[in-house]
Amino acid sequence: MIIEDQDLGKITVRRNSSTAQIKFSLSTKGNINMSVPRYLPGFYLQRLIRNSKPELIRMKSKYTPQNRLTAAEVKAADKKARQLLPIRLDSLAKQYGYKYNKVRLSHATTRWGSYSSRGTVSLNVGLIRLPDELIDYVLIHELVHSKHMNHSAAFWQEVASHVPDYKNKRKQIAKYRPLA
Ligand SMILES: [Zn+2]
Repeated sequence: MIIEDQDLGKITVRRNSSTAQIKFSLSTKGNINMSVPRYLPGFYLQRLIRNSKPELIRMKSKYTPQNRLTAAEVKAADKKARQLLPIRLDSLAKQYGYKYNKVRLSHATTRWGSYSSRGTVSLNVGLIRLPDELIDYVLIHELVHSKHMNHSAAFWQEVASHVPDYKNKRKQIAKYRPLA
């Protein structure tokens, strides 16, 4: 059931027979979800929303694109990333002739990936949610750091030899954020 509220917008109400509690939460798009007991009368629902309005407005205002994922979604991304990213990295390293020591999956939010002087490739788990071509761009970028530990002209030239439209990829990737 969906309630349209003047101030709060769309509120999705889920009736849940296994609970006696009323719970508000934010959807991944920043809308309010409401979980209520199975037989809660409609008028009570309306009154509850009215009475909780200041609190709900505050809750909605806290929404930022960073918390657009639920804990379960983050967990699923984490699992998939650990399964797939090391395999893809290994395959690209072989294809283009790069070496690294080990790969580490990270939740560091400031960058998608890094390459340490010890040869450790660190990759943010949120990569797995990006389109394949952007994942490959990040992996190749980090692999090229095994030869150039900087972002010199020579570094970008080598990146371009594998990903000719890397500038476009960099632009696209700026629309996403690494996962905490
Ligand atoms: Zn770099």
